[in-house]
Amino acid sequence: MTPPRQFDLGSGALPLDFANTVSGSRPASPRELLLDYDDLVAWGLQACLLAEADAAKLRAEAKRHPQAARRALERARDLREAIYRVFTARGAAGSPEASDIALIGAAAGEGFARSSLVERDGRYAWTWSGARDDLDRVRYAVARAASELLQEDDVPIVGECASDTCTWLFVDTSKNHSRRWCSMSDCGNRAKARRHYARTRTTN
Ligand SMILES: [Zn+2]
Repeated sequence: MTPPRQFDLGSGALPLDFANTVSGSRPASPRELLLDYDDLVAWGLQACLLAEADAAKLRAEAKRHPQAARRALERARDLREAIYRVFTARGAAGSPEASDIALIGAAAGEGFARSSLVERDGRYAWTWSGARDDLDRVRYAVARAASELLQEDDVPIVGECASDTCTWLFVDTSKNHSRRWCSMSDCGNRAKARRHYARTRTTN
């Protein structure tokens, strides 16, 4: 068995981590990281939305119903792109498309309809009460997190990587919101190396 794909969960917010399951740049040359349903399960596990036992059930269900799993993956990707568009529109001081907000809200609502408010350690929390092998579980959880992020009193400032070859999002907590790269060790470093290369070429 090939080890599950490892995803980057460093954006600072779960819905943005999900938006970052496309590498390359949108819309010109996106590179899909959620290639099959198992990738979606691996992401859900890594993001702690699923326990290992749930993940195993979902993988088995997807194997039994490959077409349904493909459709669920498509729906998850549609949600992801809606999240990407909503938060980039906000970052650009624009306003998100109503249809994207509606898509996030509808998926969150479907998730709530399959959840119960349960007390644990003196606190109440929404807990999954639908079928354990519901192929849309990860999508519902991400939609709920996205709707919660949009409802915060101070919706975080979301930046988009300045690289030509990356459209990853991140919560920008820098002063003056001047952060440019999704990660200094990745895109930031590549940009620095390119500048250095350009400088050494012109001075030689
Ligand atoms: Zn980047």
